[in-house]
Amino acid sequence: MKQLEALAREAQSFSESKPAMAEQTIQWHGRNAKPQAGALTDDESEVARVMQICNACRYCEGFCAVFPAMTRRLEFGKADINYLANLCHNCGACLHACQYAPPHEFAVNVPQAMARVRVQTYTDYAWPAALGSLYKRNGLALSLATAAGLALFLVLAVVMAGGLFHEPMGGNFYAVFPHNTLALMFGVVFGFAVLALGVGVARFWRNVSPGAASGAAVVEAAHDALRLRYLDGGHGKGCNNADDAFTLWRRRFHHFTFYGFMLCFAATSVATLYHYLLGQQAPYPFLSAPVLLGTAGGIGLLIGPAGLLWLNVKRHPLQGDAAQKPMDRGFIALLFLTSATGLALLAGRDGGAMALLLAIHLGVVMALFLTLPYGKFAHGIYRSAALLKWSIEKRQPNKLQLGSD
Ligand code: SF4
Ligand code: SF4
Repeated sequence: MKQLEALAREAQSFSESKPAMAEQTIQWHGRNAKPQAGALTDDESEVARVMQICNACRYCEGFCAVFPAMTRRLEFGKADINYLANLCHNCGACLHACQYAPPHEFAVNVPQAMARVRVQTYTDYAWPAALGSLYKRNGLALSLATAAGLALFLVLAVVMAGGLFHEPMGGNFYAVFPHNTLALMFGVVFGFAVLALGVGVARFWRNVSPGAASGAAVVEAAHDALRLRYLDGGHGKGCNNADDAFTLWRRRFHHFTFYGFMLCFAATSVATLYHYLLGQQAPYPFLSAPVLLGTAGGIGLLIGPAGLLWLNVKRHPLQGDAAQKPMDRGFIALLFLTSATGLALLAGRDGGAMALLLAIHLGVVMALFLTLPYGKFAHGIYRSAALLKWSIEKRQPNKLQLGSD
């Protein structure tokens, strides 16, 4: 143990005294890429410091992909740090296992250090760059205010068009808002969200220099991302949330949320095919594919976000970054409200308040789409890219030969 402490102390002083580490530069390789400031930020320096200590200790090597990826490096430049930060699933296992965690003088807190760099990564790689700071402002209040404002705007539009309450219309949404108007409004906003996230993650990808992806690496990364493999803590019992006890609920609620979202997306896609390919217009029967997919997805999107909010409130304060909780909760709230208003609309679509329910639901969905590229949704995209890089990297020869993969 004394030998280990000496190694860790050496790593810490090495990290503190090595100016080159604070002078790493980030290189943009794309044509339109923009150079960033060269020096590591304080948060990145903190990741470099804890990684130096962890590299001397290596107790957590089996917990997740971060530690075997770490052992392939002796120094941690900006791109390495951004990659490792996005590879971290913030499961908390290494904090609860760490003999150097606070109140130890080394104050090693890997999940917190990684979380602080992660949000900075989204900001640094954001497109357009001027909107990157929205990641730090996109909180619960902003999300709810955006949803309420847009819903109110649409409610007023309905009032001006003839009144909120009406004779039952058999669920004919397009009698309230024409199909082409909705398709244009949501298509433009969703298209922008995809473009903004796509450009951001492409910049990240170029910068972490992943190398060529083999089919096996892609399949493995997709498998790990879809199963949320590392939220099982590396031993199958789950990760830590509020205390030292393991829990699988974080993984389960993520699954409810992710697959609920995908089912709702599938419902919209199938409805689009019905509309344009088969010439069948909404409303669709309760037992049709779009409604069944949407209902199953909506239920998943109620359970998942509600559970994630519960875990978020109970989370140990040393895990993650408290400053990001508003962003987490804003996204969770919008997902939950999207589902709740969608299911309410389905239940009330044959009644006289359908126009009101529709206006509220569309306002919430629009707020979700508007905040999508500059909120918590980004973590799924960047983490999947980091997992793919890890799947590529682990297939490449380890030049250091200092640790196991
Ligand atoms: S988190 Fe702590 S216990 Fe785990 S490898 Fe790092 S220093 Fe060692
Ligand atoms: S918090 Fe979890 S995922 Fe992140 S480095 Fe620690 S063990 Fe790995």
